[in-house]
Amino acid sequence: MDNCIFCKIAAKQIPSKSVYEDEELIAFHDINPASPVHILIVPKQHIATLSECNEKHAAMLGRMMVLAPRLAAELGCGYEGDGAGKGSGGFKTQFNTGPDGGQEVYHLHLHVMGGPRPWRGQR
Ligand code: 5GP
Ligand code: ZN
Repeated sequence: MDNCIFCKIAAKQIPSKSVYEDEELIAFHDINPASPVHILIVPKQHIATLSECNEKHAAMLGRMMVLAPRLAAELGCGYEGDGAGKGSGGFKTQFNTGPDGGQEVYHLHLHVMGGPRPWRGQR
């Protein structure tokens, strides 16, 4: 896709602070972080929004979700607890879709935002 910033990052035409790459996905630090740890998990294939996804994308979306806690842990904001609300750490995962969803870059991406709750009282 011409003129798509995340396609250009995936093709390494634009630099990014990469944290992960495989045949299907890349992950890199957000250029304007909203939290102490803020990364984006992005498919290499150009898909504009979550609304363009269908059953064919289910496995890839699942891989994006499964990657989120793994990378959060590697970056020091994983959730460690008893699975019942006790414990420490943690992160938000977020897909923004369309103008009312606050989407700015129209290439599918999953935000992973961690650290000590910087959004408290803000969003
Ligand atoms: P959206 O609002 O579309 O869900 O989020 C787009 C995100 O991409 C924003 O958090 C923004 O800071 C990030 N972003 C935009 N351009 C670039 C860029 O060139 N490099 C990186 N690393 N992040 C970007
Ligand atoms: Zn793209």
